[in-house]
Amino acid sequence: MKKIPALFLVLGFHLFACGQKMDFEKYDPKSTLVVPEHPLKKSKYPFIDVHNHQWGMDNQDLSGLVKDMDGLNMAVMVNLSGGSGEKIKRSIDNIRKNYPKRFIVFANIDFNGVGKNGWTEKTINQLEADVKNGANGLKIFKDLGFSARDEKGLIIKVNDPRLQPVWAKCAELKIPILIHTADPKSFWDPMDEHNERWLELATHPNRKRENNDPEPFEQMISEQHELFRNNPNTTFIAAHFGWLANDLKRLGQLLDQCPNVMVEFGAIISDLGRQPRAASEFFTTYQDRILFGKDSWVPEEYATYFRVLETNDEYFPYHKKYHAFWRMYGMGLPDNILKKIYYKNALRIIPSIDRSVFPQ
Ligand SMILES: [Zn+2]
Repeated sequence: MKKIPALFLVLGFHLFACGQKMDFEKYDPKSTLVVPEHPLKKSKYPFIDVHNHQWGMDNQDLSGLVKDMDGLNMAVMVNLSGGSGEKIKRSIDNIRKNYPKRFIVFANIDFNGVGKNGWTEKTINQLEADVKNGANGLKIFKDLGFSARDEKGLIIKVNDPRLQPVWAKCAELKIPILIHTADPKSFWDPMDEHNERWLELATHPNRKRENNDPEPFEQMISEQHELFRNNPNTTFIAAHFGWLANDLKRLGQLLDQCPNVMVEFGAIISDLGRQPRAASEFFTTYQDRILFGKDSWVPEEYATYFRVLETNDEYFPYHKKYHAFWRMYGMGLPDNILKKIYYKNALRIIPSIDRSVFPQ
């Protein structure tokens, strides 16, 4: 019989003596690592957040929002939830009256009824009117591909040819389309001990996807890529790094193939912060194609974004365990790239942003 090393016996006895099992959500060890720390409350340069949602801008007092933005050094917020028609008009009036330089609004369209007689014309006319009233882009929510249905009740695919006139109209109006398609691939994977998003699925069970609900991740993503390729004159911003932040090589290939596509990193900074070397290489190669985006409006959470982008800090915490139970490392991006990510790239593709507050 093999001898059991004494250390194992002691350790085993100790665990037995403590006798505790702990669940994954509760386990939250304090790091004992002592390294330089540079927590950041503000960004180094004024920035444009291209992925934000404010639903009440048509009748909201904007001063509180502006105060929070100032605290972060956010010069301009792009509200992607503008709606259309009277609502977006009222929002833009409110902005123009109070803070004309601080907000940009994107319009939305309603896909329900695609295929009905007159849908295309009505949608395009509405979009044209919204842009005339001050909308500076179009936001496509993930309902396209997941739940929006045509006149026959069938789910509309992201690359549905009946939508072509909409994409062409955006090219003609020279407005970008920020598009969110699909969800993290892990949502389709078996929900077991190997799934990186197990905790998110456990706490948000309605996020689980199946291959027939409505189709596999790969299929939805490839339909989005086909949409990009079919519309080379339309500028697209793939939200959330197109859910390929965990495979930057593949995302780079997409950007190589599609010069009309930009990406923003809303909700995926935890993927960048776990691969600081690969990510900073990606940010160097694609420095003209990346925009700052965050998505959910929780001002304290921007600190993680600034720290991953700007510092060389090591092993610092992320703010949401169900996105990342791992810790972050900074990319330490140089100033010239930071300026592009924070505002120069957005100024290039989103019309009507006031340039005067941004350094050269
Ligand atoms: Zn969003």
